[in-house]
Amino acid sequence: MTFSNNANDPIGSGPLPRRASRGVVVQHGARKVIVGGDAPVVVQSMTNTDTADVIGTAIQVKELARAGSEIVRITVNTPEAAAAVPAIREQLDRMDVDVPLVGDFHYNGHLLLRDYPECAQALSKYRINPGNVGQGAKRDTQFAQMIETAIRYDKPVRIGVNWGSLDQALLARIMDENAARAQPWSAQSVMYEALITSAIENAQRAEELGMRRDQIVLSCKVSGVQDLIAVYRELGKRCDYALHLGLTEAGMGSKGIVASTAALSVLLQEGIGDTIRISLTPEPGGDRTKEVVVGQEILQTMGLRKFTPMVIACPGCGRTTSTVFQELADNIQTFLREQMPEWKKTYPGVEAMNVAVMGCIVNGPGESKHANIGISLPGTGESPAAPVFVDGQKVATLRGERIVDEFKTIVLDYVQKNYGKQTETI
Ligand code: SF4
Repeated sequence: MTFSNNANDPIGSGPLPRRASRGVVVQHGARKVIVGGDAPVVVQSMTNTDTADVIGTAIQVKELARAGSEIVRITVNTPEAAAAVPAIREQLDRMDVDVPLVGDFHYNGHLLLRDYPECAQALSKYRINPGNVGQGAKRDTQFAQMIETAIRYDKPVRIGVNWGSLDQALLARIMDENAARAQPWSAQSVMYEALITSAIENAQRAEELGMRRDQIVLSCKVSGVQDLIAVYRELGKRCDYALHLGLTEAGMGSKGIVASTAALSVLLQEGIGDTIRISLTPEPGGDRTKEVVVGQEILQTMGLRKFTPMVIACPGCGRTTSTVFQELADNIQTFLREQMPEWKKTYPGVEAMNVAVMGCIVNGPGESKHANIGISLPGTGESPAAPVFVDGQKVATLRGERIVDEFKTIVLDYVQKNYGKQTETI
């Protein structure tokens, strides 16, 4: 999908331009990921391993990075976890995984960063929750300690407010201010205001302590779709910090995916959001990389980025009684995704390829002709033959048991011919 910039076009021309924000560099060695500015929206994820388990965590980080996560956050909650961080980083470097790591700190982050300088150095960014840095007078000191550590090691921070751990003193202040209004706001608006104020005031405090504005990312996570949209619209208006977008505690399965997609799509369409994370609860024993895939698919289906060749598949209906086309669509999508870590290097541009897998003659040939490669499988009562189209032209008719393998060979051949490194012409 491409967006028209022609002002004369009578019908929609895509999302609004991205809101202006500062580009924040999140770096490990030579690998630089830019969040905000003109950079594309970044997909990030978070591990759910015990960080003290060096090998288990390194393996999951590797899996998330291989799935396409451009930044990975890990919990740093105990001395054991903080001590493990440099070893995790080393293990990743040994495995040639250069994804930047972000440390997620709550309650004791000031102590862990002070007591484990190698952890502070190994991380590429710190997430600080201003609602969880301490109470009363200690709050400001402990927040300052974390910011000073970030400045010392030249690390950016995310000031990540969450409505489940909102700074209670600040909330009380905003409630008092509201009570003094001639026409008080609703409790919902007071909560929104507290979230936004917490993020912005703490960012300003970090700047007063010496951080640059382009070292600060903000987030205000809530778990309701309409709440998230309302809060980020307002946050986006009030500041130019880079914004991390995510629906917190989105939930399991389709509910988590739908809720995240609904909330993030509205905001991304309005140009709000510089990096996203999809907070899915995995099924027991489920695959953590799903949150990366969903994040990528949101951006790709909106036409904002391209990560993996897209498979266009019809839903099937009474015209097809077999599951062959469902299996083929699934098989091809998995095949394409598995190839991408290698193909990204070998076949630049392949992520823009479209593949159609269709169930019968009604829309099959038409949709297949619009894709780079398409196959129209035979519906009920049709002759058992599957025409294959390449760039709109019919190139083959597949039959029999080996349709899947033969179709994959055609896809591979197309990729090699069309996206291989350009051969020099003399
Ligand atoms: S292409 Fe054919 S099988 Fe697929 S949904 Fe349309 S009519 Fe049904």
